Amino acid sequence: MIAPREVEQVDIAPSIASLLGFSFPCDGEVVDEIVMYANGCNRAVLAIVDSLGFEEYLSNREGFSFISFMESQGLLFKCLSYSKRTTPSIASILCGLKLEKHGIERTEDAYIRRVKCLPEVAYEEGLRVVVVMEEYGALSFQGLVSSVKPVRDRPEVLEFDEEASRQAVEAMKELDPNLLVVHFRSLDVLGFVPTSIEMVDRSLRTIAENLVGEATFFVVGDHPPHDREDEEHVALIVSKLRLRLNA
Ligand SMILES: [Zn+2]
Repeated sequence: MIAPREVEQVDIAPSIASLLGFSFPCDGEVVDEIVMYANGCNRAVLAIVDSLGFEEYLSNREGFSFISFMESQGLLFKCLSYSKRTTPSIASILCGLKLEKHGIERTEDAYIRRVKCLPEVAYEEGLRVVVVMEEYGALSFQGLVSSVKPVRDRPEVLEFDEEASRQAVEAMKELDPNLLVVHFRSLDVLGFVPTSIEMVDRSLRTIAENLVGEATFFVVGDHPPHDREDEEHVALIVSKLRLRLNA
């Protein structure tokens, strides 16, 4: 295998912006390879998969049958993550800024943030944007995007992810969003065990199977697993998919 190219989490937002047709000045840079690969496709799905470390993705590829299918059709990057925590990492992905610039340490900070994030700017550009995530985080986007789908936190995390994919599919049917952001949490809570791997993989497949048209899928980890102090990279898979997977 050729060593995958290295990018940083802050490069994701400007790259998605570029394929959606606007520029997004931030700490990151547009990854030309992604834009060339997307080749005019103007729908993007950004699936943030909690704890999807780069090494963990590689060593569990067989279990992630759908993600590895996407990889085989698309691009794999080794992506630098700046934080070991969920909220600042998701903020870096969505704002294209490192923690010291976005200042979002905890979810409540997202309600008073001054920096604009990708979903908000995409909506201001006249695009249809949907955010599906845990209730408190999701509601910080209320009024800033076309539709917010809050997923209630619950003790059973597999149900949380199932509900997140159900909400994402519903939003796609209602709105045909140009940008859909969705967050899956099972791997972070349960670790890389068959049930969580299967749930995340199946959830992504369900979204893909319900695409309205062609979309470029971005699957990225927020941070490596919490017990991997030595690891700084997450997996980023970019794959263009059509309505019918086998068409
Ligand atoms: Zn996390």
